[in-house]
Amino acid sequence: MVKQFPIPSKLVIQGQTYIVSTATEHELGVTTWADVEHCTNQIRIIDKAAPSRHIELLLHESLHAMLTFLRLDNEEAIVEDLGRNLTAFLRDNPKFIKDALAVLSQ
Ligand SMILES: [Zn+2]
Repeated sequence: MVKQFPIPSKLVIQGQTYIVSTATEHELGVTTWADVEHCTNQIRIIDKAAPSRHIELLLHESLHAMLTFLRLDNEEAIVEDLGRNLTAFLRDNPKFIKDALAVLSQ
């Protein structure tokens, strides 16, 4: 059985608190599974997705929030690649993540 991912109600990105909510496919529009609104600090992700996809989508939108002021021409491609890679990195390096959190949360 696939373990469910508890979607956080907020994420802190560059010192800004973003409110996270789920939305239906209809509310998001047919071409996107998630979005971020920088002015209002809102992140929406599609309600029906695999837990691993929710993690990837939250990383993806967080990366958009981190990179927005760089105004990159190819931001979407960069964020797509980094989002997928960070998701795999988290999955593949649990000891590193656990040890890093132990140090960073002191
Ligand atoms: Zn994107």
